[in-house]
This record gives sequence, C-alpha cells and structure tokens, in this order.
Amino acid sequence: QLLREFGQRLCVAAPAPAVVARLRGDEFAILLPNSGASEAIELAKRIEIMLVQPFAIADIALDVSATIGLALFPEHGETPHDLFRHVDSALNLAKKRGSSYYLFDPVQSKDQSRRLNAAGELRRAIEGGDLLLYLQPKVNMRTGAVQGVEGLVRWKHAERGLIPPVEFIGLAEHTGLIRPLTEWVIETALRLNQAWAGQGCALPIAVNLSARNLRDEKLVEKIRNLKTIWGTAAGLLELEITESTVMDDAEYALNVLRCLREEGIPLAIDDFGTGYSSLTYLQRLPVEYIKIDQSFVRDMTANKASLAIVRSTIDLVHDLGRKTVAEGVETQAHWDQLAALGCDIAQGYWIARPMPSERFPDWLAQYRARGSVG
Ligand code: C2E
Ligand code: CA
Ligand code: CA
Repeated sequence: QLLREFGQRLCVAAPAPAVVARLRGDEFAILLPNSGASEAIELAKRIEIMLVQPFAIADIALDVSATIGLALFPEHGETPHDLFRHVDSALNLAKKRGSSYYLFDPVQSKDQSRRLNAAGELRRAIEGGDLLLYLQPKVNMRTGAVQGVEGLVRWKHAERGLIPPVEFIGLAEHTGLIRPLTEWVIETALRLNQAWAGQGCALPIAVNLSARNLRDEKLVEKIRNLKTIWGTAAGLLELEITESTVMDDAEYALNVLRCLREEGIPLAIDDFGTGYSSLTYLQRLPVEYIKIDQSFVRDMTANKASLAIVRSTIDLVHDLGRKTVAEGVETQAHWDQLAALGCDIAQGYWIARPMPSERFPDWLAQYRARGSVG
C-alpha cells in the first residue's frame, strides 16, 4: 500500500506527458520529455517537498524519503542501458553525499572507472605479493623494553613506488578487497613470528582491522585457522580497531570483540579521542589497550587542552584497569611529559619510524645494546 501511495504522489509531482514507472522493489523511474537539467532538478525538489507529509498506512504515520539520480538524454547516454547505468551512478553518489538528488557528472564517472582500474591493480598486488609489511615498535615507558610492534602495510607499485596505506585502504574497503588484504597482513605477521620464535625473539605483532573486517562473519574462524597453521603462541597476534569503528555499531562490535578476546587475542582501541565513545561502552569493551590518537600527543606540549585530554584519558583508562599507548611520540619532550603522566607504552618516530620487517631484528639488537630510547 505504501508503494502504491508513493507512486500516486509521484504521478501528482510529474503529470503527463511525464511517465512514472515502478522498476523493482522500492525503485521508481520518471521519464520527463522535452526538458533539460533545470526542469529535472526542479522536479526532484518538488518530489522532496511532496514527501514531507507522512504516509498514513494502517493508522500509522510513516515518514518516507527518496534519493534521486538524474541523467539527461542524449548528453549522458543514447541507449536505455547507458541512461539507466548513469542514473544509478548518480543515485549512488547522492546517497554517499547524503543529498536528496544528484545530476550525473561524466567527470565523476571517469573518476569511478579510474578507481575500478586501481581496484584491479590492488587485487593483483595482493595476489602477486606486491604488498610489504612495515613494523613500528612499541616501548614500555617504565622499563624501556620493546613490548611489541604494529604492522603497517605498504604497496610496492611498479611505477608509483611505495604507496602509503592512506592512499589505498579506503579503496580496499569500498571494493571488498580489504578482506584478502587483511588476511595477507595477518598471515605475514604470523609467518614472521614463526621465524622469530625459531630465533628466540618472538614479539606480539598488532594488525589493524577495518569496519568491513568486523562485518566478516568468517573473521574469527579465519584467524583461528591461520593461527593453527602457523603455530602461533597465545598473545603474539594483537588486533587494533579504531574507536569510530567500534562506536559506529557498538553492540555489534562488542560481540565480535568478545569472540576475538575468547581466542586469546589482545585488543587495542586505535585513534582514541577522535570518535565519540560512550563511557558506558568503554567500560564494557574487552580490550587491554587504548591508543591515544597522535593528534593529541603532537599538540600536548603546546596546547593545554590537548594536555588535559591526554592526562584525563590516561587516568580514566587506568581507573578502568586498562593500559594506555601514546602514538605519535616524536620528541624527547613528548616522551618526558607522557612518562610524567604515567602513560604505559609509547610508539612514534622518537623511538623508531616504521621499517621493513626484515630490518627489524637488526634494529632490535641495536636498541637493546644501546639500552635506551632516543
Ligand atoms: P594508524 O593505525 O593510526 O597507524 C599509525 C600511523 O602513524 C602510521 O602511518 C605510522 O607510520 C604513523 N606514525 C607513527 N609514529 C608517528 C610519529 O611519531 N609521528 C607521525 N606524524 N606519524 C607517526 P601509516 O603507516 O601511513 O598508516 C596510516 C594508517 O593506515 C594507519 O593508521 C591505519 O589506520 C591504516 N593502516 C595501515 N596498515 C593497515 C592495515 O594493514 N590494515 C588496515 N585496515 N589499515 C591499515
Ligand atoms: Ca593502528
Ligand atoms: Ca592510530
């Protein structure tokens, strides 16, 4: 009944000679003859206004909104196939931007096909071994001991050189490639640790998870299998999940985190302070570490507000019985101030920049011989 009444309102908004049709499910299309971009946009706005009034179905007032994609004939396509495809792509962009309508833009579309190209390249890089795992140490601030490392992925591109993760993690997340990518990172970490265990120097390696990974129903099982294959001792694989990923859907994330914790995997909340944590959830999260986002650490020596945030985060986390990791420790001043505040673990350029995994054993030996940070 809702679809029927919705269709009727569309017919009022777009009277003949316009043609209103239901395509499938909750998708409708309107053909608007003898008009251009401005008429189409006007119609989209008119529809938006006509939907302000709720639909009364079985005595319940239902609020309905629509997202509209617009494409012009013949500018945006000469065949029904092309027009529908471009309407779809405009619709998706409107949804992504949270606007009610969007007019197809050939430039954006070129951008999309370039991204598709890049996605193909990334897939081949994952399969063909063109990813690298860099490692960055985390140091215990009281004892100076190396507590573990974080694994940070890089893409070794034939033409573009070494590509940092900020330039392709988003692409991997949008295209589903984040699953094979994360599996590659985890497996590489476990393989490294197997080799290190043989040399008597195994250390926890932390791997970053994306929101998409948490949504993967097979995630826990896959990790369990990989740990069995590589004979990984408990605690040698750690996982980092950003605060915003957790808080996006806290109840759901809580469940997955519990399952991972049951597998004996220590967990860290990453980029803490940049999302909006509910303190209730924070207390319930089964995590050992809270990583204070580097923006606060960077600013704390110059900015009183950042210092206050770092100090109260450390106190809060300690009161909840967890440990703090400060990221982005770049200077002696950062280190001294964090040590004075009782921060547990430090990570940053002051200790070491991320390095290729094969260089790490040498770095560790030198660090231990030197016996101090800096
Ligand atoms: P992140 O997890 O917050 O990682 C820390 C980032 O800060 C790394 O950048 C690291 O190189 C950088 N960093 C470390 N110490 C310092 C410092 O003292 N000063 C400054 N200015 N920066 C420092 P990177 O390697 O470019 O990684 C960026 C982000 O990419 C990571 O942020 C993480 O969110 C994501 N990422 C990296 N590897 C993976 C991965 O395997 N999977 C997923 N899902 N995401 C990854
Ligand atoms: Ca991280
Ligand atoms: Ca971080």
